[in-house]
Amino acid sequence: MVDIVSKEIRSKTMRAIRSKDTKIECTINSKLREQKLRFKRNVNSLPGKPDFALKKYKLAVFVDSCFWHGCKLHCRMPQTNTDYWSAKITRNRKRDKKVNLWYFKQKWVLLRFWEHDIEHNLEKCVKAIKTSHYKQKGKLKNKMI
Ligand SMILES: [Zn+2]
Repeated sequence: MVDIVSKEIRSKTMRAIRSKDTKIECTINSKLREQKLRFKRNVNSLPGKPDFALKKYKLAVFVDSCFWHGCKLHCRMPQTNTDYWSAKITRNRKRDKKVNLWYFKQKWVLLRFWEHDIEHNLEKCVKAIKTSHYKQKGKLKNKMI
């Protein structure tokens, strides 16, 4: 398939999406720090590379980009190479499901937020993370995990 958008514009679009992802991650990170919640970021050693995780508490947080994970509300498919992008996003979604299952089986607490959740309901998301953090901490104390 011929890409009618120049490579330059294409990579500019993709760069914009990536830098937005990074910005979202930073926003949530500073909120977590404000709450004195210290997470490891982008944990490579865990399935799906969670954006935030604490192995000790078996707690993983994913922030899914509306584009890369195919949010029904905001994912705008590029006008060119649509097949390529659509296949890529479908693969991502399949992988997300597999990842979810892993955490479920390992009895972890997994929180998955959409990028738009963070944008519009940051306080609510942070509160959910905080609540899970305390719960897991309590469980660890009582040797339940
Ligand atoms: Zn969205």
